[in-house]
Amino acid sequence: MTPLLPGATLGVMGGGQLGRMFVHAAQQLGYVTAVLDPDPSSPAGQVAHHHVHADYLDPQGLARLADLSQAITTEFENVPAPALERLASQRFVAPHAGAVAIAQDRAREKAHFEKCGVPCAPHLLIESSEHLDAVRPELLPGILKTARLGYDGKGQQRVATHEELARAWDAFKRVPCVLEKLLPLDFECSVVVARGADGGMVHLPVARNLHRDGILAVSEVFEGNVPEAPGRAAIEATCAIAQGLGYVGVLCVEFFGLADGSLVVNEMAPRPHNSGHWSLDGSDVSQFELQVRTLAGLPLAKPRQHSAAVMLNLLGDLWFLSGREAPPPWAPVLALPGVHLHLYGKETARPGRKMGHLTVTAPDASGARRVAREAAQLLGIAPF
Ligand code: ATP
Ligand code: MG
Repeated sequence: MTPLLPGATLGVMGGGQLGRMFVHAAQQLGYVTAVLDPDPSSPAGQVAHHHVHADYLDPQGLARLADLSQAITTEFENVPAPALERLASQRFVAPHAGAVAIAQDRAREKAHFEKCGVPCAPHLLIESSEHLDAVRPELLPGILKTARLGYDGKGQQRVATHEELARAWDAFKRVPCVLEKLLPLDFECSVVVARGADGGMVHLPVARNLHRDGILAVSEVFEGNVPEAPGRAAIEATCAIAQGLGYVGVLCVEFFGLADGSLVVNEMAPRPHNSGHWSLDGSDVSQFELQVRTLAGLPLAKPRQHSAAVMLNLLGDLWFLSGREAPPPWAPVLALPGVHLHLYGKETARPGRKMGHLTVTAPDASGARRVAREAAQLLGIAPF
C-alpha cells in the first residue's frame, strides 16, 4: 500500500482515552485527526481536529467520518463490526471488522487462540440449560463471563458451586457466557504487537500486570519482570495470534502465568492497551505511534525501551479519598523524579473510572519501583 503521508486525515471510531492518545500521536506526526463519538466532551473529541458527534451505527455520522478521513481505526473494542464494515466499503480500515468481531466474543476468541495452538484456561460455552447441566465439577470453582460486552471485570461473576453458577447465569439474563476454571495465577502479563499490511511485526517488551477488582492497577516493564520461558512464549503466541487473524494494527494479548511455569492466554484487545501506556514515556516508539504507522502504511520502527517503567492507573476512587470530590495532590507527585502524569480530560470522577495514569521511568527497575511506591502512597493508591 502507498503510505498515507503526514497531512492526510486519520479517523478513529471512539472518543475515549485510547483515542485521545492516538490523536496525540497522529498530530505529533503531522496528521489531521477525526473522531466519531456520541459524547460531546469525549477525551479524544476534545483534542481532535474534527469531532463527529454521532452514535457508532448512525449512517450519517459514519458517512461524515469516511468523508473526512483517508483511513480509519478503532479505539473501542465494542464498536459494532457492521459499522467498521460500512466504513471499509469506502476507506482503508484497520483492524478489519472480522478481527474485531472475534475479539468481541470470548467464545470465538478462545476458538481462535486454540486454532493458533495457544492454550486457554479450561472452559465451556454456556448458551442453554443443557450446557449448564453439562458443566463438569472440574470447571468449578470458576468465573462466569458474558461472551460479549465485558470490560474491566464487568460481566463477570466468580462461582464456587453449580447452584451459584445457575444463579449467576440467571443474573446475566441467560445471555451466552463462557465458564472458565479459576486458575492459580502466579503472575499476569501482556504483549502489544503491531502488524503492518505487509505482514511485518514489531512488539513491545512483556508487561507484568497487577489487577485489582478486575481492573488493571499496575504494569511493570523491565528486564526480569516475568520468568524468561513464559515471557518468550507470550511474545511468540501474540505474534501467532496476530498473524492468524491477518491482523493490521495494534493488538494486545493478555496471559496468565501459572505456578507450574506454564502460560495460558486470557484475552485480546484489538487496539492499544492500558498495559502498553508506559511506552509513551519508557520507549522510543509508543503503542499509539505504532497504531498511526500501521494505519498510514508507514514503516514499523522497532520500539526500543530506554527506561525501566512502572505504570499506575489513576481511577476515580482517588478523587473521593477525603470523603468529598477533590483532585489528588498532583504537585508533590510531580516533584518526584521520572514521573509522567497523563490525565484524560474526563469531567467527572467516578469510582472505577479510568481518569488517567502515571508512568515512572528510571534507569533501573529498583529506582522505578521505589518512586512508583512513593507516588502511590502520596496518591492513596494501595501498596503493590
Ligand atoms: P479487562 O477489560 O480489564 O481486561 P475483563 O473484564 O475483560 O478485563 P478478564 O481479563 O477476563 O476481564 O478478567 C479480569 C481479571 O480477572 C484478570 O486479569 C484476572 O486477574 C482475573 N481472572 C480472569 N479469569 C481468570 C481465571 N480463569 N482464573 C483466575 N483469575 C482470572
Ligand atoms: Mg482482561
